[in-house]
Amino acid sequence: MRRVLNIHEVGDVRLDRVALPQPGQDDVVIDVKACGVCGSDLTYIKAGGIHRQPGGVTPIGHEAAGVVSFVGSNVNDIQMGQRVIINPMMTPSAVGSGGPEGAFADTVMVSKAQLGANVLAIPDDISFDIAALAEPLAVALHGVNRAQVKPGDKVVVFGCGPIGLGMVMWLLDRGIKDVVALDLSEERLDRARALGVQAALNPVAVDLEQELKKLHGTGRVFSRETVGTDAYIDAAGAPNILGDVIRMAKYQSRMVVTAAYLKPVEIPLGAMLTTEMTITTAVGYPTEMPEVVASMPRLKETLRKMISHYYPLDDVIAALDMAKQPNSAKVMVTVND
Ligand SMILES: [Zn+2]
Repeated sequence: MRRVLNIHEVGDVRLDRVALPQPGQDDVVIDVKACGVCGSDLTYIKAGGIHRQPGGVTPIGHEAAGVVSFVGSNVNDIQMGQRVIINPMMTPSAVGSGGPEGAFADTVMVSKAQLGANVLAIPDDISFDIAALAEPLAVALHGVNRAQVKPGDKVVVFGCGPIGLGMVMWLLDRGIKDVVALDLSEERLDRARALGVQAALNPVAVDLEQELKKLHGTGRVFSRETVGTDAYIDAAGAPNILGDVIRMAKYQSRMVVTAAYLKPVEIPLGAMLTTEMTITTAVGYPTEMPEVVASMPRLKETLRKMISHYYPLDDVIAALDMAKQPNSAKVMVTVND
């Protein structure tokens, strides 16, 4: 038997004992060592699972790193005992996102396993907890890529949770100096300050438009003065953000939304007309995961600071609760370590 975290109903999630996986010739089994709690895990629990059959369960956990403990006979590029990260977006079985396997578990099966695709090797000097950050860091990097930032750009990131903080890190790593990070939590703003942002502000406590004019300068669209910010990334998802940005944005500025909006948002398209600004979205990480893993040795000291709490698998429910707290960063579940 193995422990697996399953969603049974809306708000009902349990660490169950279930049978070991039955891998085929194309599959590998990984003994999980670390798995991060993701905002989408909390969303899935609120929704009562994904594609869940009546009476069925949704196993969750997709930010996982571990050791290969079974290799199917058709799999030639993955070794027993190899230290690996799962790329869940490339798993045909959708590990932890509606498929039959989830990684808040002792073991997880990756079907049709392929090194460099759905299974990535962990660099030698990277620990499992750091390796398990690859997935949220890839989400963050994709958001930054979608913002098409270039040297000299002035950027605002809404939200300094695990994804927003990852975006701040990638922007700074790309040499973008004028990064303003926004959050309502002072602890989260402190983490952004520790990374070296230009400013970290609580948008409720300050006049954001005035602050951005001071930090990023001003622009002009017809008779209206705008802020000088080139790109905005929304990793927070508050209903006022789009409208606020549109009303102060400069000519041809860009905005990327990575936050999950569950309700429609009203936006002032009239104010947007004259700016020709672009609003787009970013989801997942179609290409970014290998680059993230390759960057880990260079960034590992910074990455360590992105994990705020550790829980053993038996306390995974407490880990989920901690991830809801606005002061937490990445909450990491460790397994059999
Ligand atoms: Zn995730």
